[in-house]
Amino acid sequence: MLDRVFDYLVPEELIPYMRPGVPVVVPFGRSVRSGYVVELSDHSERTDLKSILAVPGHVAGIPDSLMKLVRWIADYYVAPIEAAVHTVLPAAVRHGGARALARQKVILVQPPPPEEEARMSRRAPARFAVLQALRGAHGEAWLSHLAKIHSGAAQAVRALAKAGWVRVVTSERERRPELGTRLVQSHPPPLMPQQANALELISRAMESGHPRVVLLFGVTGSGKTEVYLQAIAQALSRGRGAIVLVPEIALTPQTCDRFRARFGDTVAVLHSHLSDGERRDEWFRIHRGDARIVIGARSALFAPVRDLGLIVVDEEHEPTYKQDELPRYHARDVAVMRGHLEGATVVLGSATPSLESWYNAQVGKYAWVHMPHRVDHRAMPVIRVVDMRAEMVRTGRPVAFSKDLLQAIAQRLSAGEQTILFLNRRGYSSSIICPRCGHVVQCPHCSVAMVYHRDREQVVCHLCGSAAPAPDHCPNRECGEPGIRYRGIGTERVEDLLRKLFPAARVARMDSDTMVRKDEYRRVLGEFRAGKLDILIGTQMIAKGLDFPNVTLVGVVHADIGLHLPDFRAGERTFQLLVQVAGRAGRGDVAGEVIVQTYTPHHAAIQAAQRLDWPTFYQQELAFRTELGYPPATHMVAVTVQGEDETSVAEAAGQFAMQLRAELGSDAIVGDPAPAPLRRIRKAYRYQVMLRTPAILAILPRLRSVWRQFHWPRGVKGVLDVDPVFLL
Ligand code: ADP
Ligand code: ZN
Repeated sequence: MLDRVFDYLVPEELIPYMRPGVPVVVPFGRSVRSGYVVELSDHSERTDLKSILAVPGHVAGIPDSLMKLVRWIADYYVAPIEAAVHTVLPAAVRHGGARALARQKVILVQPPPPEEEARMSRRAPARFAVLQALRGAHGEAWLSHLAKIHSGAAQAVRALAKAGWVRVVTSERERRPELGTRLVQSHPPPLMPQQANALELISRAMESGHPRVVLLFGVTGSGKTEVYLQAIAQALSRGRGAIVLVPEIALTPQTCDRFRARFGDTVAVLHSHLSDGERRDEWFRIHRGDARIVIGARSALFAPVRDLGLIVVDEEHEPTYKQDELPRYHARDVAVMRGHLEGATVVLGSATPSLESWYNAQVGKYAWVHMPHRVDHRAMPVIRVVDMRAEMVRTGRPVAFSKDLLQAIAQRLSAGEQTILFLNRRGYSSSIICPRCGHVVQCPHCSVAMVYHRDREQVVCHLCGSAAPAPDHCPNRECGEPGIRYRGIGTERVEDLLRKLFPAARVARMDSDTMVRKDEYRRVLGEFRAGKLDILIGTQMIAKGLDFPNVTLVGVVHADIGLHLPDFRAGERTFQLLVQVAGRAGRGDVAGEVIVQTYTPHHAAIQAAQRLDWPTFYQQELAFRTELGYPPATHMVAVTVQGEDETSVAEAAGQFAMQLRAELGSDAIVGDPAPAPLRRIRKAYRYQVMLRTPAILAILPRLRSVWRQFHWPRGVKGVLDVDPVFLL
């Protein structure tokens, strides 16, 4: 990808079409390429400019408002502008052309007389082929399909239509994503005082003309979604559109259903399972203004909604809002920027706001409003922390389930209530270790232990996916001990143990191993909701947004996973996860109970989660971050240097750090390069250079210039991440 912008002359006849975001065809070297107008200028440093050749009519342009966002993303995240264009305009829309054919249906009205057809078979093979194909398809076919059978099909169809043999209809039905069940229209309920208060603040922001960002800090079940719905209704009544971002759309079909039930057909749902055709049609439906509300994951932020009035970022603390490839943008922060550029109010909602958003609210950058009660003042669940060290002393060995948790599950089963068990690790055992020589089975390409998956009888690397047969003796050749041990616990083993302990219970597991098909989520969640399952086991996949009134017990099997990772956000993540998971319990009339199993019961994050004491947690965490110079008090930039030869990686990282320091001086702290916590992934060694600065905007131009001029040696590459979220 070329990280550059090129100058061209605009021929007279194309001047009326020129604006940033318009697609163009240009001569490039000896070939012809397509691209987008980024900026108009009346001068250039080059004297040998070539002219733009054409403006292709069938390719969508980038709306004005979004073009500004494209530039901002490229600048802020130090990314090639082309990558930013690709992010904003989906491939299905960028490559226009043939897809329009997919909506044209050709119908055989009346076959021509045999002698006419015989003539065609000799003189007009394309027409003949089209007729044959139509006959073979019961008289109807898509033009796109015919075009595949014969390259001259489009022209032939026109001739046949003129003669009256066939008719072309534009399919009245667009390719709309599968909408599932029919929904009963829902009506806005009267709001509770805390909701009315929140809506009032959002509404004032929308009216003011100086829209602000509003942090909606509401406990799980406090009625945030209802506030979003009514805020959107207000935006619509002012003639403005809205975008709602959710962390992972496949996991929250209920949320989408609620929006569709309220607003009907004006809702467009964008998710990763759409076909290209569906994505393209939805894009144009939004662009034309037929859809005024868009719901989707990260990329829905770039939907071409007209007169955007409101952007909602639900569960704004979720790390999935950060894109892990170029451009490495954070959808929450880009949402704030888009709101700023288009005069839209941005609502960030969460029961456990990120430290960043909390901080911005504290310093007055964002307005914020708190909703501390559940709807109808249902009780918050009681959280019980079980010390697994004591459990180990009691039983003499590490166990998966404490006595308390087993009792609680048994009680729910006999009462006909439901249980969710949460464990953030898939597979059967987390490591395989030889009791004699201590050898741990490691991935040959990555610096992590292989995880045992019993259903496949394989050990699998969760980083690179490589797999091998599960060993039955120590693979260390000098040892060969037959009694190799499988240690640690994953969701697969939890399921296995539960089925043995409670043979009558109906159990299902949701993790990325079992949820490979796209309708699996809906099916399993549907069964759980319908009461056809007693226990649902899952990874973080089930920690989000689910609302099941009959769940009265949530068990966190091992709360310490993730708590001791070398990442300054480990405590924050654990706190958020526990509070979110706990929020799944007691959403109905029966009070909920949460049991958290841990080996470090006194850790601040676990203590705070147990007491649902967010003020103390946020204060402590902020103090700790500020003292050590971590975000949100500063901004961070992580440069990860990668390559198969460790020495050149380390050297290049050192060089890069030196240049950065020379350029930035005292405006930033540039740390010494060090091996990343995951030192090796897919055979590549990884070293990190961490930069911290209180003034990111001031250093960005210099950071960009060092980055663009730096020459990585052969076999080494650098990955730059502004405001990184994944630090391992
Ligand atoms: P959150 O998004 O904060 O988790 P929801 O908006 O999903 O909360 O509300 C929780 C439950 O309460 C939902 O079932 C919702 O339909 C219901 N609810 C929300 N607001 C009201 C209200 N004002 N009156 C009656 N029921 C409400
Ligand atoms: Zn691996």
